[in-house]
Amino acid sequence: MIEAPEALRRLQEGNDRFAAGVTATQSLAHHARRSALTDRQEPFAIVLGCSDSRVPAEIVFDQGLGDLFVIRVAGNIVASSQIGSVEFAVERFGTPLVVVLGHSRCGAIQATLEQLLRPTGDQSPNLRSIVDRVRPSVAPLLATDLRHDHDTLVRHAVRANVRVSANHLRYGSAILETFVRQRKLLVVGAEYSLETGRVDFFDGLEGGA
Ligand SMILES: [Zn+2]
Repeated sequence: MIEAPEALRRLQEGNDRFAAGVTATQSLAHHARRSALTDRQEPFAIVLGCSDSRVPAEIVFDQGLGDLFVIRVAGNIVASSQIGSVEFAVERFGTPLVVVLGHSRCGAIQATLEQLLRPTGDQSPNLRSIVDRVRPSVAPLLATDLRHDHDTLVRHAVRANVRVSANHLRYGSAILETFVRQRKLLVVGAEYSLETGRVDFFDGLEGGA
């Protein structure tokens, strides 16, 4: 298995191809690749992303069958089942990299902000469970001047939520914490821009990016 910096480089190069409109996915997904993967897999990265239809991880990173272990949930929140999925891939496949992938104009983030600014009681308990996960990371922003500028507020909230999810994966699981401490696992946070197609890795990179 490759190491985290190489995994990260593959994702960055794949995203460069996607953003430039030059993709390699078709060649990777052909029949021979599928046959080779029937009894094993070795995904080089785990992506915890949002369910938003415009941010499919395999496509925005231009990766093929067997490359990515993907968990998608509205708002890229971290609850027990997401942690369990990451633990499974890390332990079973030795995958060295986890990317928490938020995105611009995220509906789950906007719904949470709306709920905080104008609380209504008509949310289903299930939807509320997502909003409740997002709320602690974005609520502090409403105590700042950002609350008067909706677009900037949403941008900051998306990144705050990614940072919290990434930290939750780093420290919310004894198994993952051990892998991180042993430098066998890197957890980074990133934001996909709907506007440009580019992914910005802004959290958890060596050198304090
Ligand atoms: Zn979203």
